[in-house]
Amino acid sequence: MPAIRFTDGNPLPVANIFCIGRNFAAHAAELNNPLEPEPLVFIKPTSAILQEGQAIVLPAWSTDIHHECELVLAIGKGGNDISADAALDHVAGYGLGLDLTARDLQTQAKQKGLPWALSKGFPGSACLSQFLPASKLVAPSASQFSLKVNGVQRQQGDCQLMLHTLPHIIAYLSSRFGLQSGDLVFTGTPAGVAALHSGDVLELSLNEGQLVARFSVA
Ligand code: ZN
Repeated sequence: MPAIRFTDGNPLPVANIFCIGRNFAAHAAELNNPLEPEPLVFIKPTSAILQEGQAIVLPAWSTDIHHECELVLAIGKGGNDISADAALDHVAGYGLGLDLTARDLQTQAKQKGLPWALSKGFPGSACLSQFLPASKLVAPSASQFSLKVNGVQRQQGDCQLMLHTLPHIIAYLSSRFGLQSGDLVFTGTPAGVAALHSGDVLELSLNEGQLVARFSVA
């Protein structure tokens, strides 16, 4: 079973991987997608996990693998019907991730009304940094994160601009699926998604260097 690693060295086995789509208005607009009144949820298999230090291998069956840099929550204490007020108490840690997306397949799937599993769930499509223990992040809902590709800033996220806040996402997922220890939540990507190419070097940063992760594309 894959596990995430905390910056203090502790591992946590991963249970489910939940992802939220269209959580930043500017990103929804760049793909001509409508905004969702409730969180748009999809799921990745745990076989999609790629840890820092492993190279990203672009699948041969797609010509348009996009990076989506996102804040990722690691659930420590599970529950059903968690209240928004108590939601952040259920988070064990905060990390950064790439929700890699085969945009060509996803566009076809959207046109046909088919699920996104193939375009979002391939091996390596859930890239993960190490995780900061929750106690290290003073104001999670005010976090900022960014992605540089080959040294050039491509994406910048501000959690205060999320359409569905971190507590709301946790409350919603717990009421619809139940949450358990080891669940991960990709919380949505800001604008600036674009295709990856062989040789690209990606640098993800949380709160201007409080947590940094690097990935390279084989
Ligand atoms: Zn995403």
